[in-house]
Amino acid sequence: MDSRKSFIAGNWKMFKTCPEAVKTAGQLVKLVAGTNDIDIMIAPPFTALSSVCDAIKDSNVSLGAQNLFWENEGAYTGEVSPGMLVSAGCRYVIIGHSERRQYFGETDDTVNKKIAAAIQHQLIPVFCVGETEKERESKETLSVLDKQVKKGLINLFADKLENLVVAYEPVWAIGTGKTATKEQAQEAHQFLRSLLETSFGNSFARSIRILYGGSVKPGNIKELMAMPDVDGALVGGASLDAETFSQIVNYRE
Ligand code: PEP
Repeated sequence: MDSRKSFIAGNWKMFKTCPEAVKTAGQLVKLVAGTNDIDIMIAPPFTALSSVCDAIKDSNVSLGAQNLFWENEGAYTGEVSPGMLVSAGCRYVIIGHSERRQYFGETDDTVNKKIAAAIQHQLIPVFCVGETEKERESKETLSVLDKQVKKGLINLFADKLENLVVAYEPVWAIGTGKTATKEQAQEAHQFLRSLLETSFGNSFARSIRILYGGSVKPGNIKELMAMPDVDGALVGGASLDAETFSQIVNYRE
């Protein structure tokens, strides 16, 4: 029996001013205070990271960023480095989200550089992969995942990746209200775990948490979490409201 600690993560995307973020984080801390057997993360916009860090201090909620740039510092206007995220209190960083791939030119190669930079700074990467609707319809889902995982993790080694989190996020399910069925999620997660096994070995693959993301709500989290290879969720829209997100975190109650 594998023992992977469940992980529920909230991606706040480009929502919430600093005061709004602090307010939601404060509400969430109270609502999930008793939940210690699940790792919980929220990823507010960069501008709210430090303030949210204060708001969740001494709680069971961890801080994540939504992106990073791989250089330590330099003339890279508009970018934020791994060290800056660490100093703002981040433990996690989302890398390769489909919105970044779709709108900001992120590629498997830049994703790979970002994952390498994150682990070098002891930030835990939440590495997002997933197929588009067209790719699913043309039965390319598994080959797309294969390419994204192999290229995203190229030249990286198991001993450095031990905290890696993978998020399977079918693009057609993000923000659309369409959720993958539990069987579709399990098939993709099982395949992702087999890819990790091929590259990094069996015990590594069995220890890595694979989250499902795509229109997760209080009403569908339970059946997704019942699948053997679904270890948690990356939640967008439904993480913006503390009460709703806490219902997802506390899905067993
Ligand atoms: C996401 O932003 O990673 C996501 C899964 O969004 P949503 O839950 O809104 O589909």
